[in-house]
This record gives sequence, C-alpha cells and structure tokens, in this order.
Amino acid sequence: MSDIASLGDLAGKRVLVRSDLNVPLDGTTITDDGRIRASVPTIKQLSDAGARVIVTAHLGRPDGAPDPAFSLAPVAARLGELLGRPVAFATDTVGESAASTVAALADGDVAVLENVRFNEGETSKDDDVRASFAGQLAQLADAFVSDGFGVVHRKQASVYDVALRLPSAMGGLVATEIDVLRRLTVDPARPYVVVLGGSKVSDKLGVIDNLLEKADKLLIGGGMVFTFLKAQGHEVGKSLLEEDQLDTCLRYLTEAAERGVEIVLPTDIVVADSFGDEASARVVAADAIPADSLGLDIGPDSAAAFAAALGDARTVFWNGPMGVFEVAAFAGGTRAVAEALTRIDGLSVVGGGDSAAAVRQLGFDEAAFGHISTGGGASLEYLEGKELPGIAVLERE
Ligand code: ADP
Ligand code: MG
Repeated sequence: MSDIASLGDLAGKRVLVRSDLNVPLDGTTITDDGRIRASVPTIKQLSDAGARVIVTAHLGRPDGAPDPAFSLAPVAARLGELLGRPVAFATDTVGESAASTVAALADGDVAVLENVRFNEGETSKDDDVRASFAGQLAQLADAFVSDGFGVVHRKQASVYDVALRLPSAMGGLVATEIDVLRRLTVDPARPYVVVLGGSKVSDKLGVIDNLLEKADKLLIGGGMVFTFLKAQGHEVGKSLLEEDQLDTCLRYLTEAAERGVEIVLPTDIVVADSFGDEASARVVAADAIPADSLGLDIGPDSAAAFAAALGDARTVFWNGPMGVFEVAAFAGGTRAVAEALTRIDGLSVVGGGDSAAAVRQLGFDEAAFGHISTGGGASLEYLEGKELPGIAVLERE
C-alpha cells in the first residue's frame, strides 16, 4: 500500500495534499467543520515531518471560474485555528498567488490554495484539459498525498491526473476509509444490517443491488422509502417519489425475499401539509398517507422497530437520514437509528455528509460510533462494487 511512509524523508519537500474541505457555509460562517477536523491529522503529520504542505480542495460547485461565494478563505482560517499555527492562503490555485505563497513556505508551514474548482480543468471531461491543469498543480510540489475521501470516486485533475505526475501516497484518512469499506464488503461479521435513507433516491438504489448479496437485513427510511411504498401500491401523497424507479424497487423486494434478506419498511410515517411545516405534523399508517400530505420522517413505531432490528447486529452500515432531521418535528427517526448505532457491539459505520452532520447536530458523541465516513458518494460507489479512480491511480503498479 502506498502510504505516506513510502514517500521517504519529507523534510523540506513540497507536498501537495488533496483534502476534502467541502463544508457547509452560511455566508462566510462554517456551520459544520467536521470535514476540516477530519483533514487535520494528515496535514499535521506532514507538517510535523518538516514538509512544506500545500492543501488543495474544493468548496461547492462553482462553474469552473472564480466565485467569491465559494472561496476557501474561511476554511483556511478555521484550519489554522484547528492546527494551532498560521495557515497561508493563496487567492488562486495555480497562478501567481499560489506560486509566491508556496515559495514563501518554510519547512513545516501550511498553505491552502483557493478552490480548485475555480479552474475549468479540474472537472473537465476532456482528458487533455484536465491533464494540462494537473500539470500546473504538479509543478507546485515534489509529492502528492491523496486524502480527500469525499472525492476519490471522481476522475478529476486534483484527485486522479495529478497522481500520475508526482510520487503519490494515500493519506491516513483515505486509508482508514478504505479499510472500513473492505470490512463492510469482505466477510462482514453477522448479523449485518444496512440502513438506507436520505433524499438521493436513485443514487442509493444502486447500492442495494450489491448489498442484497451481503446483508442480512435492509432497513429503508428517508425520502427513498416512498418509492418502495408506492411500488407496493400505497398512496404516498406529495412525498418524494421517483416514478422511474418503481419497477426497480419491486424487483429488489422480490429479490430480497428470494435471498432471505429481510427488508424492513416503516409501518408509520410522520406527515405534514407542506415541506418543513412542523405545526401540521402528525403520524399516519404507512399505507394510509393522505393524498394532500407528504411524508417527512418514519413514525415512532417504525423508529422503535428499526432500533430493535439493529439490536443484535455485529456490522451496520447507515447512509441517509430517516427524515428531514433539520426540523425537530421530523428528527425522531434519525435520532432513534443513531442511538441504536451507538449501542452496536461490533462495527457501526455512518456514511454520508448529511448523515454525519445529523449525528453531530443531534448531539451524539462521535466517538460512540465505530466510524463516521466523510464521503457519501465515494462510500456508495465502493459498496456498489465500482472502482474508485482516485484509489486505483494510487494502487497501480
Ligand atoms: P447523505 O448526505 O447522508 O448521503 P442525502 O444527501 O441522501 O444523505 O440526504 C439527506 C437529506 O435527505 C437531508 O437533508 C434530509 O432532510 C433529506 N430527507 C430525509 N428524509 C426525507 C423525506 N422524507 N423527504 C424529503 N427529504 C428527506
Ligand atoms: Mg447529502
């Protein structure tokens, strides 16, 4: 495995680190710094080794051009606070500011480059455009460390192409994530329970395919549950629904029954008249959702049933909140599942940006979970059995 030690003595070397610093912002205020804190150990390790550390990362989805709303400046400031040392900030990614900022670094110093997605080369589908931008990034450094787990499933310049141009290694954050994912897919301790929710329905249906072969139980909540309920012939009112996935959901239900995998769907639902309308919140049976309402959480009976289904699990993977946890009236299901995960005797893994944020927002101690993953999409693609370009490029011979 290409870990940081494989790069040899780093004292005085310029090391480019791809971190995942994609935190939620309210204006310039960071509302959840979890990803920055998760990135600190690798940055500190490199700094302690005497490297001149150059951090590259993205924030949000700017259109391949500078956009002050997506500046990493507040993130660089927070990173400095967490590291307990000044962090320099370059106002561009590969331009004059980056060059002079890097040139001014002493051994052990840390700099953050401006949002890598301010450059169209970062996410370009054109291999040559990406390669040329990666070449500019590579010129800033002597070695590359890939530590942004949230982006390793992307074939992007700062994730993939740059690793072809510099001696490269996997950072500790990525190495830990991959290790945990292997434990979820290769010979997991049983019973193995998978809990899926959230809003990205079609994203997560893909994972079910692969996990139906591995899990003993699959608990489904969140926005995706309504496509399952509808597939069973129930009214779902104005709830989230992906009509084009109804057949797929039916197929999964049949396949699970054939394989002896238990799919647990909620029996009651918290509905409201409109999105986030707490005043109108009420509990209805899952097969009796009123046509003019929408489901925003699993109900209390379902929350208890989900917690019970998790009781004897030895391996748990949870991705996606059970409801609109951001609003107190719709947070009960997510809280119950999170609570059950803290009591697992075995490996409990929380995957997904919003799921991880939910755990923190609801006041749980992160240490009570076996592992909180920083990358939703990357974890899901791995669990779907796909190759992750940002990992494959590090493991190539
Ligand atoms: P993650 O980031 O953990 O992978 P997702 O991004 O898929 O999770 O989904 C998180 C979002 O799903 C949350 O913002 C939550 O409000 C929303 N959500 C959960 N349940 C519902 C629901 N029943 N209807 C609409 N949105 C929902
Ligand atoms: Mg999300």
